[in-house]
Amino acid sequence: MTAELIDGKLFAATLRTKIAEFAATFEQSAGRKAGLAVVLVGDDPASHVYVASKAKQTVACGMSSFEHRLAEGTDQEALMALVDQLNADPMVDGILVQLPLPKHLDEQAVVERIDPNKDVDGLTPTSTGRLALGLPGLVPCTPLGSLMLLKDRLGSLSGLDAVVIGRSILVGKPMAQLLLAESCTVTIAHSRTRDLPDVVKRADIVVAAVGRPEMVKGSWIKPGAVVIDVGINRLPPAEGAAKGRLVGDVDFAEACGVAAAVTPVPGGVGPMTIAVLLRNALVAAHRNAGVALADGAL
Ligand code: NDP
Repeated sequence: MTAELIDGKLFAATLRTKIAEFAATFEQSAGRKAGLAVVLVGDDPASHVYVASKAKQTVACGMSSFEHRLAEGTDQEALMALVDQLNADPMVDGILVQLPLPKHLDEQAVVERIDPNKDVDGLTPTSTGRLALGLPGLVPCTPLGSLMLLKDRLGSLSGLDAVVIGRSILVGKPMAQLLLAESCTVTIAHSRTRDLPDVVKRADIVVAAVGRPEMVKGSWIKPGAVVIDVGINRLPPAEGAAKGRLVGDVDFAEACGVAAAVTPVPGGVGPMTIAVLLRNALVAAHRNAGVALADGAL
């Protein structure tokens, strides 16, 4: 068997086109653009590149981007004051604080300060609680993007066995909640799970969100399963190379020989994350401005 590749890059581009169309009609209805604010504290070069890319895509979709780059030494009070200011700003529909924050800052307190109506990362207790309760709300971008890819490939997920490897607040837990809401039978595996290969082998859907390069082997995968590889890991550089290769948490070559469909790394889940961030900001904008948006439109 040779698995079909799930093209997240293409799906994300299609989603961004739709977002741009809805952003234009939003602007007509609301008399202003939808706005997304991104807050970055510190000097991490990768985070700066990531934030610049978010800002560029936000503007390309016809939304306003507000970037706040703060010095590494910024204190808790100043960061909380900025979040308060963004919460109160009627031009800002979504607030994303780039994580992780420098060690001296209380990340949880900052996240909890974000107005749940502007919580485009879906990480506030209100958002996580609403997801668990099955109420509408803002859902973390990476799991929601992964779910979109799964539904596009499989249609109804009802009754399927799904295994999510990883139980982080950012990926594993919300992913499991989303799959449960689709009526999958969900198992959440983690570092203490016994016989992980056997657990994975039961699954029609495997979502790997671990952070361990190529950990999930082809022999663990049920023939015909659909595999979503969330992991992004950089291998040590080969001799003479400046940078190592990017790989996921799944042994891609092996998985391709067993699964029905697999997301590649890069080009699978990764591009979905920013596209869903823009989608969340636009959904929040509609709610915040009282402009109607049909359920499931985005
Ligand atoms: P975390 O480190 O927060 O969580 C990793 C999870 O994997 C934990 O629940 C941990 O279990 C589990 N785990 C660790 N080792 C094992 C093991 N040997 N067997 C089974 N489970 C194990 O990571 P994130 O959830 O934030 O991210 C996971 C991966 O996804 C990373 O590679 C990250 O780079 C990537 N990522 C990609 C994104 C994208 O846009 N594509 C966005 C976000 C993340 P325990 O809880 O027991 O410690």
